[in-house]
Amino acid sequence: MHLKKIFIVLIIPFLFVSIKCSDKEQNNRNNKKLFGKLENGEEVYMYTLKNKNGMKAEITNYGATVVSLLAPDKNGKMEDVILGYDSLKSYENGTSYFGAIVGRYGNRIGKGRFSLEGKEYQLTINNGENHLHGGTVGFNKLLWKTDTFDDNSVKMTLVSPNGDQGYPGKITLTVTYTLTDNNELRIEYSGTTDRPTILNPTNHCYFNLTGNPENTILNHELKINAEKFTPVDEGLITTGELADVNGTPMDFRTPVPIGKNINNDFQQLIFGKGYDHNWVINNYNGNVREAAIVYDPSSGRVLEVLTDQPGIQFYSGNFLDGSEIGKGGIHYQHRTGFCLEAQHYPDSPNKNNFPTVELKPGKIYTQSTIYRFTTK
Ligand code: BGC
Repeated sequence: MHLKKIFIVLIIPFLFVSIKCSDKEQNNRNNKKLFGKLENGEEVYMYTLKNKNGMKAEITNYGATVVSLLAPDKNGKMEDVILGYDSLKSYENGTSYFGAIVGRYGNRIGKGRFSLEGKEYQLTINNGENHLHGGTVGFNKLLWKTDTFDDNSVKMTLVSPNGDQGYPGKITLTVTYTLTDNNELRIEYSGTTDRPTILNPTNHCYFNLTGNPENTILNHELKINAEKFTPVDEGLITTGELADVNGTPMDFRTPVPIGKNINNDFQQLIFGKGYDHNWVINNYNGNVREAAIVYDPSSGRVLEVLTDQPGIQFYSGNFLDGSEIGKGGIHYQHRTGFCLEAQHYPDSPNKNNFPTVELKPGKIYTQSTIYRFTTK
């Protein structure tokens, strides 16, 4: 009798817990697969996240990159809405930052120079005379460590040593992707440093809501909740000015097809070869709010971008020219994908009037950005 009691109280719950764990491990094995190997033999993995509505996201720990994202159209048809490649090799060789986390600094720092606490820093130069998206070997070209994952989320960490690409401080950055049952891909960032530095990572997904990247994105209707944008010079370095969108092709306060004014004779569009600018999102106060909405009339897909960041870079895929061979062997042509990159304004370290990107030891950098899918 006594023994029976012990069995019921101790052994049965133990058995139950072990069955649950092995279930989970089994699950984990099912949604983790080898994506490839780096030259040095390191294994790179692909994690498949799912939600209860049938959405799927494939994420690799190479560059913490979103490789595919299946979202429903107005008839419930699931299609991949982001650009990317089929193989790890192509991610290693690619130059377009498809789906990756870029860092340490999303977008450009003029001449790759800035000073912090009285010290000058020179970063690597990889875009004309400027520093773009973290430099020659940015976070998109590094292997992240996967901390945990389950059916709908994956958490990855990257440690970037002091001096990496010229930046001061050892940075530890963690990114968690979660695919929610509200059809959202949520991206949460958390970063620390061991000495004063700057940090401004972003995600670089290229979207094509038609689900067929052979179509351009010019018919997509875009709304950006911004009264102002940050004009650039010919090297795409912000001038420091916050300009009114009113009366210009930069005005997306009400929805406008991306292609409507993109070829206008407007200096900023000439410099950008189309849209390649940062908008100053209204109501920056540390909370997540809606930054932009994109609607594709052909599929009925709607992408809403929410973020707690001060700005968003809208890039209309102007440098895609057919030379990148993407998933399914498709040559990605001019303007067949667009990015909406939540971030601080470009070249903030050199612009005193822009919100600061400094990170000090003991403080935690955080960012929350959400890509939400609906239809209409
Ligand atoms: C930049 C573009 C750049 C592209 C790289 C965007 O975030 O604003 O200027 O060419 O990334 O693919």
